Amino acid sequence: MAYQKVKGTLDYFDLDSKKYRFIESKVSSIVKGYGFSEMITPIFENTEVFVRSVGEASDIVSKEMYTFLDKGERSLTLRPEGTAAIVRCFVENKLYATPGIKKYYYFGPMFRYERPQKGRYRQFNQFGVEVYGDASPYLDCDVIYSAYKILSSLKIKGIKLKINTIGDFESRKNYTDALRNYFKDKLEFLCDDCKNRFAKNPMRILDCKVDGESDIIKNAPKIKDYLTDEAKEYFNNTLKALDELKVPYICDDNLVRGLDYYTDTVFEFISDFDGLAICAGGRYADLIKSFDGPDIPGIGFAFGIERIKNIMEQEDLFPKLDNLTDVVIISLDDESKICALKLASILRENKITVEMDYKNNSLKPQFKLSDRINPKYIVIIGEAERESGIYTVKDVLNKKEDKVELNKIIDYVKGE
Ligand code: ATP
Ligand code: MG
Repeated sequence: MAYQKVKGTLDYFDLDSKKYRFIESKVSSIVKGYGFSEMITPIFENTEVFVRSVGEASDIVSKEMYTFLDKGERSLTLRPEGTAAIVRCFVENKLYATPGIKKYYYFGPMFRYERPQKGRYRQFNQFGVEVYGDASPYLDCDVIYSAYKILSSLKIKGIKLKINTIGDFESRKNYTDALRNYFKDKLEFLCDDCKNRFAKNPMRILDCKVDGESDIIKNAPKIKDYLTDEAKEYFNNTLKALDELKVPYICDDNLVRGLDYYTDTVFEFISDFDGLAICAGGRYADLIKSFDGPDIPGIGFAFGIERIKNIMEQEDLFPKLDNLTDVVIISLDDESKICALKLASILRENKITVEMDYKNNSLKPQFKLSDRINPKYIVIIGEAERESGIYTVKDVLNKKEDKVELNKIIDYVKGE
């Protein structure tokens, strides 16, 4: 079907685009208040940017990327996620050169070749933050708290925060060995993807969408038994800080997150309504270094905007977003239409929204238009009004009509 949108993509128009912009402005204003500055990076990157960071064994790289060769035979990829691109930009522009913690946020489309269904699209939008500079349980807590605050400021309820640690490098190495040992004689019970994950990164098996609920996976060794003392203490301090801030959470041993770059704290906010993650994130120790940058740790999260929108629709959380039209101008001949255009322009400059009929000169169709739009005021311009400079203004709500001089219409409409 040449003239239908591509499978798994969405058109936003009318109320939907207003809801989208409502979420965007709400979340950006919150993080701006937290001192985050916006980073806008290209929608595509060299493929290597994602392969080396997100990891070859991840679902994203192994099967979800929109990768293509451009006319110069370069392999490019439509960004499937934000973090790798933000790190690339951070390192390439040497934004680490000045001291202090750096906080960025981004908002925009991501692309993943997934099986489309409610809450899962091939082009979707993410809002995310990344913080570079320190590895501290208190910073982790602050970042998680800001995600929690975003949800509460959108009035979204019924969300569970799941949290886990996947430890530092040493803990992960011990754990990976234990998983290999455990899964090595159970491979026949796993899906083909998991057989592959076994070789490349056995922790990915725990994140499997096919086998995830099976007993084999549920009974697999748990990371908490392989953590170094340091990693354990880091996690416990993060949880303690969350307790102090009264952020409820559930520790989930099987939460490993689908991207390779995470270390230590990982978390997801899951919706009770459909069981999908509305936001996910974690800490990454080595990502900046792996982009040939300095040894600076980072932490971030990303919200799925479509998933937020679905929940807000379900819970009826959007305010009234229809723009009410303030004024409809009815004009009774061609010359009056010119007058109407001039009046509309003056009113709009004064932030008064105006509609008019460009075609009809008789009253009936213009009143029909006005009925449909339901403005607060109707201004009528005909020959008599043009000549006297005094226009008929109907106050629709209060059902009254006045004669108003041209230069008083703005005040009248604004109720001054
Ligand atoms: P899932 O487990 O649902 O596939 P994920 O772990 O792949 O999610 P992340 O890469 O962490 O997701 O992305 C962060 C957020 O972006 C998710 O929590 C979700 O809200 C949203 N998201 C991810 N993939 C999609 C998609 N295909 N369509 C819509 N939203 C998505
Ligand atoms: Mg996914």
